[in-house]
Amino acid sequence: MKRIILKKMNKRRIKGGHPWIYKNEISNAENVDPGEIVQVFNSSNQYIGKGYYNPYSLISVRLLTRSNVEINESFFHNKIQKAYDFRKRFLKDSNSMRVVFGESDGLPGLVIDKFNNYLVVQFNTLGINCFKREVISSLIKIFSPDGIYEKSDSETLKKEHLEKKIEWLYKNGPELIKFNMNGINFLADTKGQKTGFFLDQRDNALNLSKYAKGKNLFDIFSYTGNFSFHMLKGGAKGCVLVDSSTRALEVAREIYSLNHFSGKIEFVQDNAFNFLRNNSDEEIDCIVIDPPAMTKSSYSRGKAIKGYKDLYISALKLLKKDSLFAASSCTQLIKEELWKELIHEAFYDAKKEGKEIINGGQPVDHPILSSVYETHYLKFKAFNID
Ligand code: SAH
Repeated sequence: MKRIILKKMNKRRIKGGHPWIYKNEISNAENVDPGEIVQVFNSSNQYIGKGYYNPYSLISVRLLTRSNVEINESFFHNKIQKAYDFRKRFLKDSNSMRVVFGESDGLPGLVIDKFNNYLVVQFNTLGINCFKREVISSLIKIFSPDGIYEKSDSETLKKEHLEKKIEWLYKNGPELIKFNMNGINFLADTKGQKTGFFLDQRDNALNLSKYAKGKNLFDIFSYTGNFSFHMLKGGAKGCVLVDSSTRALEVAREIYSLNHFSGKIEFVQDNAFNFLRNNSDEEIDCIVIDPPAMTKSSYSRGKAIKGYKDLYISALKLLKKDSLFAASSCTQLIKEELWKELIHEAFYDAKKEGKEIINGGQPVDHPILSSVYETHYLKFKAFNID
């Protein structure tokens, strides 16, 4: 097996368990093929671990293990089983969950979502893509699934020199996969965004729904209505779903018909920024804002901050006393402290005051790993307007 030697340095990050090795931390990587498994040593020739190599990425090695085990099917089987056991221990009464969340589960680049008895997988790096056969074979053994669907369509695949791939890899399944979460019937859209459904809002939406009774909601960036349906289940009077995607709203309509809610629902296909600026509705007393990641590079962080603030100010201006304002950010590059600051600024600029009622974040199936701060991306807060 080929070896990679690191430059002389004293990186706490790598020692502390972080699996990424950047291009500029490597002193030699000759004749290593893209995707090949390498052994990594520090400059004093001490063994660090084994991982896969990708010369095209700034993160040249992602470590898979610190011990000297073989990277074969049983390696992947054990890691996936361990990740699933963890979910089963902490996520009671659910057959739908993120089973593997990349780096958090020691499987960089791999995402596996389970919807009922179907699995949706993403191979987000060249290295993990080389082990597709081993991963799929392990999944069949562990889950005996009704079908496995690959939905590798992230924009970041280009950086890895990987093509998008969207297809059923094992058996076949429906375009819309039915599953239940928090007592609500949902559909994961195999032709939709990411893995088809945002499981990461499971706790935040449920927590907010405890205060839903009688509320009229603007669900801004609704996708297929996750927040709205939780709120309707919690007793909301009505929901307006706002999203730029016609398809997401069509799927939302189908999800509505799968449940028996008494509250009203409305679908608005629009740009969320314009919608919030141009729509006031006296009845609205709850607004949820959950935009997609605003930036993946630190160069455009400033623009992302302005984007969030614009949305928050417009929303806050619409809300009266005792309304609820809920905001979420999944932009990993905007850290919690900064995000909190910009919420406070938005309140100030909108001349409103609020009390925090929920401080949310990532659910247990999207675990934050203590040694890898990049695994923390989702932030959520809800306020009562004074
Ligand atoms: N709240 C959702 C997830 C939202 S994902 C849930 O819990 O499931 C972000 C959504 O924003 C996507 O559905 C995308 O179609 C939508 N979107 C992106 N840009 C938009 C824009 N400018 N205006 C309105 N919707 C937008």
